[in-house]
Amino acid sequence: MKLIFASANRHKLAEVSRIFGPSYQILLPQDLGLDEDIPETGDTLAANSLQKAQFVWDRFHLPCFSDDTGLEVDALGGAPGVYSARYAGEPRSSARNIEKLLREMEGISMEKRTARFRCVVTLITDGQVAAFDGVCEGRIGLSPVCQEGFGYDPVFIPEGFDCTMSELSLDVKNTLSHRGKAMKQLVCHLSQHHG
Ligand code: IMP
Repeated sequence: MKLIFASANRHKLAEVSRIFGPSYQILLPQDLGLDEDIPETGDTLAANSLQKAQFVWDRFHLPCFSDDTGLEVDALGGAPGVYSARYAGEPRSSARNIEKLLREMEGISMEKRTARFRCVVTLITDGQVAAFDGVCEGRIGLSPVCQEGFGYDPVFIPEGFDCTMSELSLDVKNTLSHRGKAMKQLVCHLSQHHG
C-alpha cells in the first residue's frame, strides 16, 4: 500500500518507515512534486495534524497521514506545547529552540524538569479521518548531548533512561516515543480496515 506522509522531515520519515515495514511504501509530498510548505496554523496538535493531512489529501486524493508533536514542560506551564516548532521564532531552528528552552529553565532542578512529548497522528483514507495519539514522558537535561536525532532529542531524557533521545537507536526510540506509539496504532488500524 502506498501512503503519503504529510511532512518534509526526513528524520521522521526514517522513523516511521521502520514502523510500517516493507509492505507499505511511504512517500513525502516533495517526492510527488509538491514543493509548497504544508501549513500548520492551528492552536492544538489535533487541529494542526488534521490540517496537514487534509492539505495533502486535497491535493492528491491518495491515502495520507500526518503527525504533529508538542513538547510540554511542566515547569513552564506546558510550554512550548503546540508552539514547539516555532518556540524561538522564525526562521525555525532546533538549535535556537533548545537554547531558548535551556535559558527559560535555568536554575530549575533535575526533579522539577519533567516534560513529555505528545503527538497526534491523523490518517485520511477515502476521505475518512482517523486520529491516534502517543505520549512519551521524560525530563529536560541541563545541556544538549549528541546531535544525532532531531528537534529536542538532544535535551530530552526519556523516563527510565539515563541518556537523551538523541543517543538511542531508531528502533529503541520507536518502542518508546510519542510518534512510535501513535504510528503503531495507525498501522494496526490500517491492517484491520484496509488489510
Ligand atoms: P512538528 O510536529 O514537526 O511540528 O514538531 C514540533 C516540534 O517538535 C519541532 O521543533 C520538532 O523538531 C520537534 N519534534 C517533533 N518530533 C520530535 C521528536 O521525536 N524528537 C524531538 N523533537 C521533536
